[in-house]
Amino acid sequence: MGTSRLPTGIASVDRLLGGGLETDGVTEIYGEGGSGKTIFCLDLAARVARSDRWVLYVDTEGVSLERLRAGAADDLERVLARLLLSAPKDLDEQGRAVATACALARDGRHDTGLIVLDSATNFYRLSLSGPDEDDAREALAVQVADLVSTARTQGIAVVLTNQVWRSVRDGQLEPLGGSFLNHAAKTILRFDRDTGPLRTVVLVKHRSRPDGRGSFRITSTGLESVGGG
Ligand code: ATP
Ligand code: MG
Repeated sequence: MGTSRLPTGIASVDRLLGGGLETDGVTEIYGEGGSGKTIFCLDLAARVARSDRWVLYVDTEGVSLERLRAGAADDLERVLARLLLSAPKDLDEQGRAVATACALARDGRHDTGLIVLDSATNFYRLSLSGPDEDDAREALAVQVADLVSTARTQGIAVVLTNQVWRSVRDGQLEPLGGSFLNHAAKTILRFDRDTGPLRTVVLVKHRSRPDGRGSFRITSTGLESVGGG
């Protein structure tokens, strides 16, 4: 039996993923600033909340309510009623927010359709090259392990976003967060900025799908698939 999928509603992305995000694992999205990671998460959150399932959303960046309103269209009240948003201010608070989200998802009282951590590495990156780097990596590893196990045991799609650094060696954009993050995520997508509102989605890692790419366009009301769908 195949893993069930959570459709994103963006045809090009759903095609890449064989129908949508896997609901028993963590999907990592990395990409440079402005590549659309947050808009993707907000639109997906609105989509899940509209279907009357709970969304547990940990936001480290200060989410744009205007953007959420655009994604929710006429259903803003309905979406807000199913959205549990936490806005941690440092990595410790992020840890507590993730632990709370995982506990809520596990206790079964909320029919949870999605957990989002955007971005997983916003506070972590502040500790890089400092005396607290090892502690921060350990704290992040604990959070990600909790998300992985919650996804797996509860059958809930988890999306975490990750920022990037540019490799001095070859100039490529690489995800932050160390290799454990890339191992923990069963699916990895990279969002690349294209011209204007166009973005390319690259499937970097998947358990059962070939590597590939698709495109979407950022509009004032959401993300639109580009190219045959
Ligand atoms: P960061 O790593 O900085 O958090 P991100 O990948 O989360 O970045 P988003 O905040 O999701 O990026 O995307 C913002 C991008 O969306 C910007 O490039 C902005 O120009 C673009 N954008 C926002 N609204 C519109 C719109 N109505 N039409 C076209 N592009 C838009
Ligand atoms: Mg963002």
